[in-house]
Amino acid sequence: MSEACDACGDDVRLAGGIANIWASEPVRTGGMTLEFDDGTEHFLCFDCIEALPDAPTAADVEALKG
Ligand SMILES: [Zn+2]
Repeated sequence: MSEACDACGDDVRLAGGIANIWASEPVRTGGMTLEFDDGTEHFLCFDCIEALPDAPTAADVEALKG
């Protein structure tokens, strides 16, 4: 299962699914959904999340889209 990052467009692998329980490698989720004050939601990979300022706004996400 994967979802595309709203900013860079990378495919991000999502945790979930019973198969992950038996995987030898640690389960990693590659991103998370951020909700902003204006009610918009953006799914971002952690690379993009790290690039955001401490109090990101939707405009910051737009800036990441380049
Ligand atoms: Zn990204």
